Amino acid sequence: MAYMIPFSPPRIDDKIIAEVTAALQSGWITTGPRTKQFEKNISEYCGCKTTVAVNSWTMGMQVFLNYWGIQPGDEVIIPAYTYCASANVIVHAGAKPVMVDLNEEDFNLNVEKVRQAITPKTKAILAVDISGFPADYDLLMDLVNEEAIKSQFSANNDMQSNLGRIIVISDSAHSFGALMNGKRSGSLTDVSSFSFHAVKNLTTAEGGALCFNLPDSFDHDEIYKEFCTKILHGQNKDALAKTKKGNWKYDVEEPGFKCNMTDIQAAIGLVELERYQESLDRRKMIFHRYADAFSKYNWAIKPAFETDTKTSSYHLYLLRIDGASEAQRDEIIQEIFEHDVSVNVHFQPLPLLTAYKKRGYQMNDYPEAYAKYANEISLPVYFNLTDGDVDRVVAALVASVQKVLA
Ligand SMILES: *Cc1c(COP(=O)(O)O)cnc(C)c1O
Repeated sequence: MAYMIPFSPPRIDDKIIAEVTAALQSGWITTGPRTKQFEKNISEYCGCKTTVAVNSWTMGMQVFLNYWGIQPGDEVIIPAYTYCASANVIVHAGAKPVMVDLNEEDFNLNVEKVRQAITPKTKAILAVDISGFPADYDLLMDLVNEEAIKSQFSANNDMQSNLGRIIVISDSAHSFGALMNGKRSGSLTDVSSFSFHAVKNLTTAEGGALCFNLPDSFDHDEIYKEFCTKILHGQNKDALAKTKKGNWKYDVEEPGFKCNMTDIQAAIGLVELERYQESLDRRKMIFHRYADAFSKYNWAIKPAFETDTKTSSYHLYLLRIDGASEAQRDEIIQEIFEHDVSVNVHFQPLPLLTAYKKRGYQMNDYPEAYAKYANEISLPVYFNLTDGDVDRVVAALVASVQKVLA
């Protein structure tokens, strides 16, 4: 039998190993010069005003919600169809995740449903660029700037008053390198958070970055400084600053968090970013190869990944099988694995998970999210996946669908 095609292995080669070794041998392994360089390169690549590297999307977003003053009594709007992290951070902030259903034509949150979900308690909208395809930020920004919506907004603090409206946050965990109106993900809205987890397009093993792009009434150098403190226990000097002669003393003005990125992680990220275009190009070719292959089958519902205004980062190929029930989809997946091909499902909508069922969310309230989930299968996409591998995935899928739906 042929080798097992994995779902999303990281691209670890001699170049990455050499950079990590160099970081290990440099005498500086925690946050230092490589992390700072990585942050600068991300800001430049994404076109945002400042970037703070952290140890995960989750902690970056948790600290951001704390920084922005999201608290009990507040509501944050999210799509029902996302990874649990998007909702968990809101729960930990003490606020309420308000879930909305998806668009019909793609996997992103529906802006009209967002409009219906806004109340005077709404402090933020956390849109998710599912699969790497940007959410409808033009519509979302227009919505939060509407007079009627702005006038019911009530600020908890000076930053929220300065903005004077609901903040639009992007869960960009999937969308590093995606484009909308010629601008890159990370600069499409007020704040974006990336994940550099092992399975993501760009990895540092574990890691993340917050990209800030607030209006010019915010001092982004000041935000950067405050964040570097906030992610290091609130300590006003980091380890590197303290190595300067006699510079041992520091203060803690507010209790902070601990979620800084290390230079070992940044070493991986620097190489990944340097060759990122090559990685995107390969992913794009894989997406097109899948799209071409599935255009022959009328049961194949292909995902949107390129439109006039948006280009995906080609993170996940979310194929749907028309006419398959949830049970049949599960059977098809079982069959595909028999062909030594790994596939996945993204995502189980949050109302299907015990933690959110217990909090009163009901799947019936999100019919579009359920319909998308029930017949969805995510296919392998990664740099080293060859054309021959793609053809094997397609053949395995076609045979499995035909067997189960026969
Ligand atoms: C992976 C992922 C996250 C969490 O990222 P971590 O870096 O693992 O914290 C958040 N949102 C979405 C949509 C994700 O896929």
